[in-house]
Amino acid sequence: MPKLGFLGGTFNPVHIGHVRLALEMAEALSLDRVELIPAARPPHKRGEGMLPFELRAELLALAVEGIEGLAVNLMEAERPGPSYTWDTLTELVRLHPGADIHFIMGAVDLVNLHLWRRGPELGTLANLAVSTRDSLGRDEVAAYLADHPELGCEPAGPGKWLMPSGNCVELVDVPRLDISASFIRERFRRGSNLRYLVPPGVEGHINRLRSQVLEIWS
Ligand code: ATP
Repeated sequence: MPKLGFLGGTFNPVHIGHVRLALEMAEALSLDRVELIPAARPPHKRGEGMLPFELRAELLALAVEGIEGLAVNLMEAERPGPSYTWDTLTELVRLHPGADIHFIMGAVDLVNLHLWRRGPELGTLANLAVSTRDSLGRDEVAAYLADHPELGCEPAGPGKWLMPSGNCVELVDVPRLDISASFIRERFRRGSNLRYLVPPGVEGHINRLRSQVLEIWS
């Protein structure tokens, strides 16, 4: 049974924190592949400052180039309307019958699951692989799951809970690099060097498109 990981995000732009997250999860959970899925129309981050989907996808392709086990999945571009994770996961389950699917998210995302469209039901579709940093976030996740009985999570070992669907919520310690896409955008606006904060191909490409990118991020 293939073990597949899916990492959704806006990737505006992709940075090394995203790539490391995908690699750490692949290793910790023995995933055969992790696909990074850029949100075509993120429901929570609409409006200005968002690079066009095609450019975010191009940058992602450059970021994973040559890295075994990582790939980019552009499926959200094919669906009209807001890109809800529920719809994406439903489609992924249909496309990969019998696969062991792990949806990757940060602890911060998990404790806001009730705000997502059909968020508390996501566990009926896939395992939830939740990144925590040096155990930070573990207590918050445990408290959240205890406060939300509708998720039906039963402790199943350290940092692991079983859901009624048979899927698990599993915490994985990921050394979080203290960077975000907002931080990258801010540095780019200032004209600061982005070396080692974004993959080399990404740095080269956004620098080549500097005026177009600045117009969007300013
Ligand atoms: P922004 O600053 O625009 O909110 P972001 O980089 O924090 O951007 P996304 O691109 O949507 O956000 O992130 C996609 C996923 O990657 C999310 O699950 C997020 O928790 C995770 N992530 C983002 N930055 C890091 C990082 N530095 N280390 C580990 N995980 C990260």
